[in-house]
Amino acid sequence: MISVAEAEQIVLSHVRDLGTEEVHFQEALGRVLAENILADRDMPAFNRVTMDGVAISYEAFAAGERSFKIAGTQAAGEDPIELSDKNECIEIMTGAATPDSADTVIRYEDLEITDGAARILIDNVKKGQNIHKKGIDKKEGDIVAETNTIITAATISVAAFTGKRMLKVKRRPKIVALTNGDELQDVGDTPPPYKIRRSNSYTIQAALQEQGLDADLLHLPDNEDTIEKEIGRCLEEYDAIIVSGGVSMGKFDLVAKTLEQLNVRKQFHKVQQRPGKPFWFGTHESGATVFAFPGNPVSTFMCFHRYFLPWYKKCMGISSQKLFAVLDDDISFAPRLQYFLQVSLQMNGSGQVIAKPAEGNGSGDLANLVEADAFMELPAELDNFKKGEVYRIWPFKRII
Ligand code: AMP
Ligand code: MG
Repeated sequence: MISVAEAEQIVLSHVRDLGTEEVHFQEALGRVLAENILADRDMPAFNRVTMDGVAISYEAFAAGERSFKIAGTQAAGEDPIELSDKNECIEIMTGAATPDSADTVIRYEDLEITDGAARILIDNVKKGQNIHKKGIDKKEGDIVAETNTIITAATISVAAFTGKRMLKVKRRPKIVALTNGDELQDVGDTPPPYKIRRSNSYTIQAALQEQGLDADLLHLPDNEDTIEKEIGRCLEEYDAIIVSGGVSMGKFDLVAKTLEQLNVRKQFHKVQQRPGKPFWFGTHESGATVFAFPGNPVSTFMCFHRYFLPWYKKCMGISSQKLFAVLDDDISFAPRLQYFLQVSLQMNGSGQVIAKPAEGNGSGDLANLVEADAFMELPAELDNFKKGEVYRIWPFKRII
């Protein structure tokens, strides 16, 4: 059986370039940029006034002048009004272009205006103050948003500002989430005593939606012919197939066997981990990548976050940070399996992320996921984990 690190390495070695497409910038939030956005002009494009007040020539102020005759009023967007004399000033508004003949702006709060003249009430004036210099943020042609990054509200802002109406973004994978098992009923059904409603399809769909992705959903009975026919079709139609259920040792666990019959190349089956040991991963010549997770809800959920999401992010070219937290209690786990402990997370006053164990009752306990925030990944080689030790976490909820 392979380790979690080996499984991760194999999964990440099968990423695919899914190509790009163009979208309108208002539809692009959450997508991944596939080009740099460049400044179409200097930013700012002119010496931009940052305070309402008057524009003067600093030279006159330095020579002792304090009273300046108002030669005109300039709103934002208007052509600059030039000073014809050093003892003049222009009343000028935030966002206006500083006239070439002025170089310093004094805000209204520091002025007294009477009889068409502005008197400066302060002595501490710096040359160039209250002016946002042309090109200081970015020069024309500079990169303002980089390729391979997630488009945020701030990215939309620079796209709008630079007039970039269409954005080249990465194409998202077409995904189907398959569930499997004759015991699983529709959400609208009232299950007979020994059947249950199927939840994993919706868990996967929602977890994908958190990433701005969607999935088609399909339920398969424990019937080899149907499984073969439906997965065979999905292999041609989808970039990624996420299966939950049917990959364990049971007599009716038919998915792994059927995938191999369909020439899906098994890259591995079973990983040294709890939950999620029976995880099956394979690739098909059509390009489809198959993540077949064990059906226990916590197993599917953990494997989705630990394997599918990193695969997706690598396909998109997004770099993701490793996250860590401080374990808040002693934990023992003897089996030679990487243990994904459910934890709730809290930031303490020193800025540390503290992970409080919220173990629940194993991989069938989906109710516990509602209370936990993350999985903490505890190394297989160790049996005892002490309060205060730091381990990697896989959050599945927003914590800040
Ligand atoms: P399996 O991996 O098919 O052996 O299923 C393991 C356990 O997970 C069984 O108790 C199944 O009933 C349960 N299970 C499988 N698929 C789902 C699902 N879609 N929603 C909820 N529970 C499931
Ligand atoms: Mg089953």
